[in-house]
Amino acid sequence: MFFHAHPDDEALLTAGTMAMLAAEGHRVVLVVATAGERGLAEMEPGDALGETRLKELYTSAALLGCARVECLGYGDSGLSPKGGSADERPDNAFIDADTEKAAKALAAILHEEEADLLAIYDPAGGYGHPDHVQVHRVGRRASEIARTPIVLEATVNRDPLVRLLRLASRFYRFPPEFDVRTFESAYSASETITHRVNVRKYAKQKRASMAAHASQASGGDSDRTLAVMLKVPRPLYRLVFGTEWYVRRDLPPGARLTHPFDQ
Ligand SMILES: [Zn+2]
Repeated sequence: MFFHAHPDDEALLTAGTMAMLAAEGHRVVLVVATAGERGLAEMEPGDALGETRLKELYTSAALLGCARVECLGYGDSGLSPKGGSADERPDNAFIDADTEKAAKALAAILHEEEADLLAIYDPAGGYGHPDHVQVHRVGRRASEIARTPIVLEATVNRDPLVRLLRLASRFYRFPPEFDVRTFESAYSASETITHRVNVRKYAKQKRASMAAHASQASGGDSDRTLAVMLKVPRPLYRLVFGTEWYVRRDLPPGARLTHPFDQ
């Protein structure tokens, strides 16, 4: 089971692993906490955007071979670092959710599926989006309740990422709010990563999964992460997006495993 905050997070972080496991015959289940109704898009934030994004999620999940998709139905807390002020957030914003209650909802699905593995995010929530930090907390607790044997924290090896961004900043003008330095403490350092999953064989599916999230790739400002990534030339894309990274906390840091079920 893969637990994500918003539709499109699965495409960026774990799509290759999901396609690989489905191809190997595993039952792959995708759960999102929110419909992503406050994401950046040409459409105004709101229920209609949430509906569009869930449809995109179903398309992406089908392309990756998922057997089931669920949305826990929490409100998208929004994009600002603290999810906006409390009165700007929807009543049921995921970051305001009771961790125990949300964990029980997720644990019920883990239990029903007799899931062998749960993928969540690292404690920093990758780059620090509050809904992503909440995915870590809720996911951790749900795995305790359901006694899920393997918990993997999906992350990015930040060392090559920071090198690449520094290089890119010499010829690509990042939007002013984009600060390469924030990536120096985002995601995970190379030495803490336990799993490096080679997903090059599934690059086509991963790219198709990203493309399925059209509202996030084409709308509004073209500097959006997904839009930028879809412009990466195919051979380079295979190289850059050929690996997905995970940290399994009950293994020694830096164990060099290559498959989610390796231990
Ligand atoms: Zn997200």
